[in-house]
Formats: sequence, C-alpha cells, structure tokens
Amino acid sequence: MTNVFLGLGGNLGDRRELMRSAVAEIRQVVDDVRVSSLYESAAWGVTDQPAFLNAVVRGRTSLNPLDLLDAVQSIENELGRVREQRWGPRLIDIDILLYGAEVIDEPRLQVPHPYMTQRGFVLRPLADLAAGLTLPDGSLVGELLTTVNQSDLRRVEGPDWAD
Ligand code: ATP
Ligand code: CA
Ligand code: CA
Repeated sequence: MTNVFLGLGGNLGDRRELMRSAVAEIRQVVDDVRVSSLYESAAWGVTDQPAFLNAVVRGRTSLNPLDLLDAVQSIENELGRVREQRWGPRLIDIDILLYGAEVIDEPRLQVPHPYMTQRGFVLRPLADLAAGLTLPDGSLVGELLTTVNQSDLRRVEGPDWAD
C-alpha cells in the first residue's frame, strides 16, 4: 500500500455535489481516505472562467501509479467531464499530486504534479492534511505554502464537507 495525495477541483455545475461524488468514488479505490477543508479559488492559468472549488484527498492504495491514473480518469469521465482545453472550465479534475516518495516522469504521468508547488489551491489544502510532509526533493509542504499567493483563496467549509 502506498500513501497518495490527490488534488480535486471543479468550476462548472453543482461544484460541491460533484466534489462529494468524486470523494465517494475515490473511496472505492483508495483506503483510509481523509479530506482537507473545502476551498474556493479564482481560476489559474486561463483566468476568464468561473471560480473553482478545491480540496485535497489523502489515502492509501494498492494500485500502481498508472492504474491509479486510469481510475481517477474513469471517475472524471463518469462524473461527466468532457476533456477540452487544458486549464479550462471543467466539472471535475482529479490530479495525482504525490505517490509515496516516488518521482515519475512518463508521457501520461508526472509525479509530483509539476505545478503543485506553485499553486496555493493545492498547497493550502495539502498543508491541512500534511504540513510536515516533505516532497521527494526534500522541500517541506508548510514551507512551500509560505512562498505562494493565497489572496485568491478562501476556505468555505471544514473537512466534514465530504461526509
Ligand atoms: P494541470 O495538470 O496543469 O493541473 P489539467 O489538470 O487541466 O492541468 P488535464 O487536461 O486534466 O490537465 O490533464 C492532461 C493530462 O495530464 C492527462 O491526460 C494526464 O495524462 C496528464 N498527467 C500528467 N501528470 C499527471 C498527474 N500527476 N495527475 C493527473 N494527470 C496527469
Ligand atoms: Ca489540474
Ligand atoms: Ca488533471
């Protein structure tokens, strides 16, 4: 079993209900799931679109990294995601942030997620669950959090949102 962290986000439809459904589906493939608080953030990259809800999920899985990617992409598809422009609006996005201490660089999968250390909407909820966690490069989540902008980020609900 490997400890994994997944980043969830969505900015279309019933955002909160989609996030809750995503967590319910993730529980089918990840054990001992814990969720961060729920955050709202202004869009990143392509900024002309509705605000996102974001959260991070941690747990343990026996799936290998590519099987985990297949599983989370199936969940995205089940929840109605239509794959369009990168960083564009979407019903639900599930990224693999961390897979144990592994560094993975394959065409379909890069872990740690390449942009996670630049994103307040990832680092803030990640720090809720694991401020003392070190990434494979030795950087500390709680330290990284102090280096990113959090002004467009707002905590909207405590960790019981997914219960
Ligand atoms: P970003 O990755 O910058 O957050 P995005 O989530 O909008 O952008 P997507 O369109 O959801 O990007 O995914 C594009 C591709 O990224 C996926 O098809 C997948 O193969 C690949 N990918 C690479 N690394 C990861 C990862 N760690 N988690 C999820 N997908 C990944
Ligand atoms: Ca993403
Ligand atoms: Ca994604």
